[in-house]
Amino acid sequence: MEQVVVVGAGLAGLRACEGLRARGYVGAITLLGEEEHAPYDRPPLSKQFLAGTLGADRLSLRRDEQLAALDLDLRLGSSSRATSLDAAGRRVELASGEWLAFDGLVVATGSRARVLPGLEALPTVHVLRTLDDSVALRTGLGPGRRLLVVGGGFVGMEVAATARGLGAEVTVVEPLETPLERVLGRLAGGACARLHAEHGVRLETGTTIEEAVAEPDGSTTAVLGRGEAVSADVVLVAVGAAPNVSWLEGSGLEVGPSGVACDARLQVAPGIVAAGDVARFPFGPAGSPARIEHRTNAAEQGDHAAGTLLGGTEPFAPVPYVWSDQYDVKIQLLGLPEPDDVCEVVDGSLRDGRFVAAYGRDGRLTAAVAFEMPRSLMRLRSMLATPTPYEEARRAFA
Ligand SMILES: Cc1cc2nc3c(=O)[nH]c(=O)nc-3n(C[C@H](O)[C@H](O)[C@H](O)COP(=O)(O)OP(=O)(O)OC[C@H]3O[C@@H](n4cnc5c(N)ncnc54)[C@H](O)[C@@H]3O)c2cc1C
Repeated sequence: MEQVVVVGAGLAGLRACEGLRARGYVGAITLLGEEEHAPYDRPPLSKQFLAGTLGADRLSLRRDEQLAALDLDLRLGSSSRATSLDAAGRRVELASGEWLAFDGLVVATGSRARVLPGLEALPTVHVLRTLDDSVALRTGLGPGRRLLVVGGGFVGMEVAATARGLGAEVTVVEPLETPLERVLGRLAGGACARLHAEHGVRLETGTTIEEAVAEPDGSTTAVLGRGEAVSADVVLVAVGAAPNVSWLEGSGLEVGPSGVACDARLQVAPGIVAAGDVARFPFGPAGSPARIEHRTNAAEQGDHAAGTLLGGTEPFAPVPYVWSDQYDVKIQLLGLPEPDDVCEVVDGSLRDGRFVAAYGRDGRLTAAVAFEMPRSLMRLRSMLATPTPYEEARRAFA
């Protein structure tokens, strides 16, 4: 292999470049990123960077000299956006019109924030995916400003917490019964709801926005399903992210709204691998298709995909991990729970807001979540790496 093209200059793409070099690959690597910025970290965009406690210079994933040591042809900006893939001809087309030939390709284009039809046209509506999005959102927040967050997932709830810290009045609208319900289920979602209520967030759950109107003073009035009105100076739509696969349409690869399909080694087709938010791979004992949108996954998959491209045969078999910082509480999740998994507190207590809860399905441990109990949670990590009876997780804390 002599010419690798990595499409997507985020964490997964960067880790793929590093993984290639670490394994002794000395050929050319072109890293393409459509944003102007060199690879940077997204988690602080809803937390410390949005709060103003971490500067843009601290978001870079690597220092200039570290990037230079990788000897990359790093191409950034809109003209470096990949627009199509000729898989049979082994070449990628760029927005500039140039075609880049490859003998190895890493698909690491991540995902983009979903928008909600009907809200897009409002003057005060934001999404949050990029550094530029975070800068734009930050200008609208401050003491007394009214923020409406549409969607109670991780990004929405983190922004709600940060905005409260900046003195804003915050309302969150979420169609399910609790925030974070889709990812953590109702028990932990309820704990998140209590945490935000204690900090003065108005939570409107089990309802949606029926109508949103731009007022002459620049604010927005949203009418909820139950008829209540919410006035806001700033609206954040945080309803999840969609994988960036449009450039792969017509390539013959298996792509769709749930990402680009790869095998257990993260191979999409011979000489083509995928990593990070964009990759859909067989996960767990049942090999169920999964697309994991967490930072640790992007790092681990980027490295693993590099190994596969160089002939590695190991399957990617992670214990998925995600964390979220809200106020002074660290929420951590190991594994991938399903909405109908059983879920019980095994350590700490819901009342204190410090607990570990274990998830199970068919008598097997599937995941565990902690609120402010990191050490206790990590006791379950090794149990999640291999099939473990649910009872064993409960006994570990008896
Ligand atoms: C606000 C926010 C907070 C988060 N907080 C956490 C957290 O607390 N914990 C956690 O575990 N995870 C968190 N995440 C998720 C985590 O950041 C992502 O899982 C991770 O960034 C995924 O990395 P990636 O490299 O796969 O994709 P990305 O980071 O999306 O990078 C992909 C890059 O590819 C570029 N690109 C896309 N299409 C093209 C194209 N056609 N040509 C060239 N370039 C292209 C994109 O512009 C982007 O720069 C957060 C995400 C956000 C947005």
